Amino acid sequence: MSYLPGRHFVQLPGPTNVPERILRAISRPTIDHRGPEFGRLGLEVLDGMKDIFKTKSKVVIYPSSGSGAWEGALTNTLSPGDKVLMFEVGQFAALWIDVARKLGLDVEVVPTDWRHGADPKIVEAKLTEDHQHKIKAVGIVQNETSSGVMSSISAVRQAMDRANHPALLLVDAISSLGCIEMKHDEWGVDVTVAGSQKGLMLPPGLGLNAISEKALAASKTAKLPRSYWDWQPMLAQNATGYFPYTPATNLLYGLKEAQAMLREEGLPNVFRRHQRHGEATRRAVKAWGLEVVALNPHEFSNSVTAIFMPAGHSADGFRKLVLEHFNMALGSGLGKLADRVFRIGHLADFNDLMLAGTLGGVEMGLDLAGVPHKKGGVAAALDYLTESLKVAELKPV
Ligand SMILES: *Cc1c(COP(=O)(O)O)cnc(C)c1O
Repeated sequence: MSYLPGRHFVQLPGPTNVPERILRAISRPTIDHRGPEFGRLGLEVLDGMKDIFKTKSKVVIYPSSGSGAWEGALTNTLSPGDKVLMFEVGQFAALWIDVARKLGLDVEVVPTDWRHGADPKIVEAKLTEDHQHKIKAVGIVQNETSSGVMSSISAVRQAMDRANHPALLLVDAISSLGCIEMKHDEWGVDVTVAGSQKGLMLPPGLGLNAISEKALAASKTAKLPRSYWDWQPMLAQNATGYFPYTPATNLLYGLKEAQAMLREEGLPNVFRRHQRHGEATRRAVKAWGLEVVALNPHEFSNSVTAIFMPAGHSADGFRKLVLEHFNMALGSGLGKLADRVFRIGHLADFNDLMLAGTLGGVEMGLDLAGVPHKKGGVAAALDYLTESLKVAELKPV
């Protein structure tokens, strides 16, 4: 492929565009991870995550992808053969279910059509009928990145409370943390799983667990084999800012910068920014006459929009054309949505003009690919973005 000039648009729902400030922070020389400077950095970034997870409890940071942090959440809290209730809301949920099965857990899967989130009424019913408390954990993907469908974690927590059931609540917030509200403590989440390369604006390579006191207590008796993922040696070393093995030092420089950026903007503003970009994207899709995968407006994701290609047209062919002509990477359809869906990531370090460019590339690509659609998606999105700035509470601060 010949040189593609200009900025490469990474409009995947992860990895996301890494801002210059973070790239520069990461480019510093690697330091001794047993030396005094590292200890200060370790304490600072571990503490900084608490504001983002909204927890006063413990956070661990693995040098891993998000999938590693899935494994950490399961192996630290559960024992072989334990029953776990999980909702297959899309491809990432399906992969997490697969991890749980491979680890020897007895997974009860609630299937969905991949167009709806986890139904709290089903959570309540399944837990209420589990008189013997065989279900040890409920696993929910907050923002299903393959379909752009959100599940309400607070509603799931309320359903668990109504059933008066002691199961742990494990939440995958990999593509929602730093984009969409997550309140680890207030919502009674026991383990929140996250990764570096989505809302945290970093390159791939960090996996995170936020851990409740209840999950910490469960880890004392949980029997699944674990070594690399074991919280105990990690927490023991983290107390002074160190790690039991070599940490991803340079990514932690980046994480410190990401935390500073989120603090400067303010999380409520970050969430509002994602809401605006999600809504603007959906207005563009509607104007094009195309269809988003998510069916319930209250479950629309504000970090990613998955869009169906009209029958007879290849989503992957369309993505290839957009990459070659406009130097923009769009997300592919995953699992059973392969080649039927393309996804626009509108998360992390992102602003109105980047969205305008992104939607412009999609609209031009639809035309070039001969996909039946109406013009005016970009215009509809820009109208919304402008109008929403006139509403007082949406003004940037
Ligand atoms: C990206 C993603 C994952 C997988 O993370 P990796 O870093 O690729 O291991 C899991 N769950 C969700 C919701 C994701 O968006």
